Amino acid sequence: MAAKREPTFRESVDLMFNRAVALTDLAPGLEEKVRVCNATYTVRFGVRLRGQIHTFTGYRSVHSEHMEPVKGGIRFAMGVNQDEVEALAALMTYKCALVEVPFGGSKGGLRIDPREWEEHELEQITRRFAYELIKRDLIHPAQNVPAPDMGTGEREMAWIADQYKRMATTDINYRACVTGKPVNGGGIQGRTEATGRGVQYAMREFFRHPEDVAIAGLSGTLDGKRVVVQGLGNVGYHAAKFLSEEDGCKVTAIIERDGALISEEGLDVEAVRGWIARHGGVDGYPDGRYVRDGAKVLEHECDILVPAAMEGVINLDNAERIKAPLIVEAANGPVTAGADDILRQKGTVIVPDMYANAGGVTVSYFEWVKNLSHIRFGRIGRRQEEARHELIVKELERLNRGIGDAWQMSPDFKQKYLRGAGELELVRSGLDDTMRAAYQSMREVWRGREDVTDLRTAAYLVSIARVAESYRAMGL
Ligand code: GLU
Repeated sequence: MAAKREPTFRESVDLMFNRAVALTDLAPGLEEKVRVCNATYTVRFGVRLRGQIHTFTGYRSVHSEHMEPVKGGIRFAMGVNQDEVEALAALMTYKCALVEVPFGGSKGGLRIDPREWEEHELEQITRRFAYELIKRDLIHPAQNVPAPDMGTGEREMAWIADQYKRMATTDINYRACVTGKPVNGGGIQGRTEATGRGVQYAMREFFRHPEDVAIAGLSGTLDGKRVVVQGLGNVGYHAAKFLSEEDGCKVTAIIERDGALISEEGLDVEAVRGWIARHGGVDGYPDGRYVRDGAKVLEHECDILVPAAMEGVINLDNAERIKAPLIVEAANGPVTAGADDILRQKGTVIVPDMYANAGGVTVSYFEWVKNLSHIRFGRIGRRQEEARHELIVKELERLNRGIGDAWQMSPDFKQKYLRGAGELELVRSGLDDTMRAAYQSMREVWRGREDVTDLRTAAYLVSIARVAESYRAMGL
């Protein structure tokens, strides 16, 4: 029998979509409209560097414009191609719909290895790519708003924002053309940690439902759970850090580019991150067992597997051997459609990407709103809130004196209660609320419908219904 062919990333997303859409009564025309990618722009541009012209290939794909602007990151990696950006753009559409972020889906990518270039060279390349996209309104506060993704961060976003400003000199909302900017350059507190923070909030919400936890064959809380994390980049690092420092999880393995580290007692995430920064990889880290074949460690025995690196890492080759009863997809598309079938049959519970990693785009939304309103969250109300709290505390103290100081308010309470929320607290509160609400909507379908047996199908069903509703409202 011929080996089963692994579909491409985009085919994989389509297959998962098809599985879900088959359970709806959407008209075939509308079904097709929701599924297909509206447009993908490919650009090849030259930049003179190191005495010669280098040609780069970049993409910006727009999956769905049922809401505008469309939203999604820009990735810098050698593996970038049209199939990949289209798959990622589609996932952005479903992700935004699921967490009720009012954007369509888009994604961009540049085929480049950022580590091969000096900072000033990268700036030139990024600005040139941005120029090509801005010229065509593929970066625009009202139409298409990129953000960081693999290989990019706040530095690249700052260059893009500045490039846009140079080209749209009278646009008062220029800062809203891109999110994930540095905080002192129009960004928002908590955006860098947002995707990892969202993974943490997603897992907390999952563990608030003992019946759901039991379906994965687990019990209790996050405390003491053994977690294997693949990828200690921005997403994996923050997720692993928060889960181990705040929820009592034990990070028993970290998988990186050059291999993996294992420690059943739990790895110190901060120390491993520092080691990678100094040595370029995990090899040689003293407090863990090093395994050269990192991918093999995905099969390590644990409670929760968090793939936070890239797509397709759990596939037809290894799905059967994955032991984790619960997989939380911090990356986009880490499980292929074929692997998804195998895992579902095995009873593995998968918290799907479009939910688990939606924290990034959620806080991007807050940043975009902040940029358009030209004011920091909390600036107007914070002191007023503090003044009202102070009134209550003073009144309680007065009443307490009346009964001979019978109660003692703990000084800690007073201090915490009096302080009005700053931007970071507001961002976290908005993110937490978003992750809880999205889980509820997914869960209603997962647990409420006989024909839905997994969270991913439930997530697709919620998203597809919302996107279809927008198209209907537009008269389509
Ligand atoms: N690149 C991130 C993602 O895949 C963030 C997108 C955004 O903030 O627009 O969700």
